[in-house]
Amino acid sequence: MIPKIYVVGMGPGNRENMTLRCIDALEDSDVIIGYSKYIELLQDYYNHKTLISSPMKKEVDRCIETINIALSDEGKTVSLVSSGDSGIYGMAGVLLETADRMGFDGEIEIIPGVTALSAAASALGAPVVHDFAVISLSDLLTPLGLIEKRLRLAAEGDFVICLYNPKSKKRTDYVDMAVDVILKHRSGKTPVGIVRNACREDESCTICTLDTLKEQHVDMFSTIIIGNSQSYESLGKIITPRGYKFD
Ligand code: SAH
Repeated sequence: MIPKIYVVGMGPGNRENMTLRCIDALEDSDVIIGYSKYIELLQDYYNHKTLISSPMKKEVDRCIETINIALSDEGKTVSLVSSGDSGIYGMAGVLLETADRMGFDGEIEIIPGVTALSAAASALGAPVVHDFAVISLSDLLTPLGLIEKRLRLAAEGDFVICLYNPKSKKRTDYVDMAVDVILKHRSGKTPVGIVRNACREDESCTICTLDTLKEQHVDMFSTIIIGNSQSYESLGKIITPRGYKFD
């Protein structure tokens, strides 16, 4: 068998938000490997497969393991899973970089998934209908100065701003920093949505303003969407007008 690796975006949470292509890839695999929380979510459906949990911050090791399993015996099919979309702060990039360095010559197929941005936006209404910028507040792999610069330029450009990785146990004040940067270019009344565990059993959704964002509960399972200068709250939702005329 030709060694085959699927890099699978499994969507934001429950099975209903996985694509059929994702489900087919997992079914087609001998082995499914991923960060422990995602393997837990898959356990009920795929206990007939070999499931391998891998710790956080060991992404390169996880990719090496994936490639070595694909190459083992006469060749295996392995799914490497990411939450959301594997190409958006997910495993697709690091897997390709590792495969390139290791000279892997089997097949690699990247399967798209519903990213946290789409899941959070739909829970909030229609906050992202116009141009938007997605910024991760994690400085594990990106210098803080560059994150600040991107926040400033996105705010200056009046992009709707979506924040991934807004907080962790070590990074408790980056949301406050982002608010201070964005407030220099945008009104404090701008609507802001926080969606925690989108599409999971304990999903929660809060709408506040840029002025009150610092007071809200935010953690690493949350995505934040900050409206542009035209966004407003109505019907319990955030609406960003696209520019349609209503006579
Ligand atoms: N590849 C993933 C993103 C991984 S980065 C994707 O495409 O969605 C991890 C960050 O994504 C989290 O800190 C959080 O900001 C966001 N996130 C992932 N799943 C989420 C969910 N179900 N609800 C809210 N935010 C989520």
